[in-house]
Amino acid sequence: MTDMLLNDVRLPDGAAVDVAISRGRIERVGPNLQAPAHVAREAGAGLLLLPGLVEGHTHLDKTTWESPWYVNQVGPALTDRIDNERAWRAASGHDAASHSRALALAFLREGTTRIRSHVDVDTDAGLRHLEAVHATREALAGLIEIQTVAFPQSGLLGRPGTAALLDLALAQGADVLGGLDPCAIDRDPAQSLDVLFGLADKHGKPLDIHLHEPGDLGAFSLDLILDRVQALDMRGRVVISHAFCLGGVDAKRLDGLLKRLAALDVALLTTAPPSRPVPALRACREAGVTLFGGNDGIRDTWTPYGSPDMLARAMMIGLRNDLRRDDEIGWAFDCVSGAAARACGFADYGLTPGARADLVLVAASGVAEAVAQRVPRRLVISGGAVVARDGRLLDSVAA
Ligand SMILES: [Zn+2]
Repeated sequence: MTDMLLNDVRLPDGAAVDVAISRGRIERVGPNLQAPAHVAREAGAGLLLLPGLVEGHTHLDKTTWESPWYVNQVGPALTDRIDNERAWRAASGHDAASHSRALALAFLREGTTRIRSHVDVDTDAGLRHLEAVHATREALAGLIEIQTVAFPQSGLLGRPGTAALLDLALAQGADVLGGLDPCAIDRDPAQSLDVLFGLADKHGKPLDIHLHEPGDLGAFSLDLILDRVQALDMRGRVVISHAFCLGGVDAKRLDGLLKRLAALDVALLTTAPPSRPVPALRACREAGVTLFGGNDGIRDTWTPYGSPDMLARAMMIGLRNDLRRDDEIGWAFDCVSGAAARACGFADYGLTPGARADLVLVAASGVAEAVAQRVPRRLVISGGAVVARDGRLLDSVAA
């Protein structure tokens, strides 16, 4: 039975349709849909209809969102940033629960209804950050779907006890196991990856590994990772985040790695940073490798940048990959919608009957204009209920 009728919207292919929603899901999509008089109606006014956006990689537990500006005076090395953050969090009393909730609501206001968040697990904090983000996940259940990745930000082997904490994190409801630079941080890649894949296999959980290592070093680690994906048959359940190495190896090596990634259905996550070599979206598409998008940190001790607006991230992916044609900008949009949902395993996604009714209305002629101009969100619907209008969350949602 229809609960809401969204009238007069345009699909990304240009078709003018109505959308009937029932029990939080899309019931029908088509022209001139009818519903009984008592059914709630929303006037779409011919606006462009997008599916709820997807943030494929952020760190909700680290953000300083809605607190005073963090003055960044951190050293240049990866280990400087890791050590600085651990010390800052211990000294500042940073509350991961309230800040993660504030940032998640900012995402929702901008039309994002699914988030994959890595969450630090280390021997100083234990599972404290994970418990905080899980509290946010529960508080916002029904509004935003949050996946958590138990992430050994300080390394897996260097601090004894970390593997046991990851084991506990997976047992306590983390959705995904994270990893980090097996050569550059752990300095024993075979052992590091054996421990990591052993934990994923034990719990039957997917993997999402931060791989910042450049060039041939990163390519070496990537091959070791793919060996284990193959051995454990984890096809379709592994993501490599950043994979900067794929922007820094010769064409023959790149071709071989992309073929292996495609054959093992391992997806890549990019933030499309202007300052690092990155996997090229065009080459990934041609090779059949899924590439999707995310911010990484947003306004934390690592970076002052980032935004809860996933159309802005899609624009960065477009800029970084020199996408100009409307159909190509559609690829960048896919990185923050369908491709991200597939890679992260968010179910019931899209604009077809049966999908969860997560819908965004924008004033744009098509997807390319929405991305290139980062148009404001006019209406956001999550799980069949209106949650934001004209860039403001409803009071009942923000409370
Ligand atoms: Zn990250």
